[in-house]
Amino acid sequence: MSDEFRGLRALVTGGASGIGLATAELLAARGAAVACLDLDGAAVPAPLLGVTADVTDDPAVRAAVAEAAARLGGLDVLVNNAGIGAQGTVEDNPDDQWHRVLDVNVLGIVRVTRAALPHLRRSAHAAIVNTCSIAATAGLPRRALYGASKGAVLSLTLAMAADHLADGVRVNCVNPGTVDTPWVGRLLDAAPDPGAERAALAARQPTGRLVRPEEVAEAIAHLAGPRAGATTGTWLAVDGGMAGLRTRPR
Ligand code: NAD
Repeated sequence: MSDEFRGLRALVTGGASGIGLATAELLAARGAAVACLDLDGAAVPAPLLGVTADVTDDPAVRAAVAEAAARLGGLDVLVNNAGIGAQGTVEDNPDDQWHRVLDVNVLGIVRVTRAALPHLRRSAHAAIVNTCSIAATAGLPRRALYGASKGAVLSLTLAMAADHLADGVRVNCVNPGTVDTPWVGRLLDAAPDPGAERAALAARQPTGRLVRPEEVAEAIAHLAGPRAGATTGTWLAVDGGMAGLRTRPR
């Protein structure tokens, strides 16, 4: 196992579950000191450091980021991963649902980044990775709100990369396909036939299977690490070929 992150300090939002937890564990295994910001920081398993905040609550975010930076001795890497889903067409989601999802998925990144930047600017290896989605670049059915939120995450990633280049902060994002996390587990549990729904989600990806959280974590770790020093203002798809291929699983 590489020790690329030895001596570096990372903060992962939404780090108590799914992609965030897999990322935090991978960064720690590669030598980073890692804090996870989540709704319930106590749910974050040791030796990861849990800090509690809702990314829609600006004072709580500022306090949690300050706590993480103080306990880790600074910040080099920020993974903006906390996010929520929404299903439906523009006719299905009322305005308050739009406000809520955009508040978490887009403004959540803005708040955490704002609080973390003063620490990141002091790092010699500063990097931000945002968790975006295939929904940012593909028209998925019944994902109007979710797709709009992730489209904004993609644009925000590019704008942040431009704005913070001079600060020495690289900014990129990952675009996962359907990932086998507790989130997708909840979606499947709510379906009339969870087995058939899982098969349908898998078949949507040319590789014919769901992406594993560890596979997204690998991509995030690559973009976050010093070896990706020439990579900023771009995205990396981890989507089983969904965005680029015009084939179906055999
Ligand atoms: P998950 O539900 O397993 O984990 C999400 C974590 O974020 C949870 O620990 C949750 O408590 C935390 N969180 C949610 N709202 C929060 C808030 N307001 N403040 C702080 N923490 C909050 O989900 P996941 O599948 O691991 O998704 C993580 C990210 O990956 C999300 O941004 C999601 O949009 C993105 N994504 C997921 C998939 C997928 O198929 N699972 C695909 C593409 C993108």
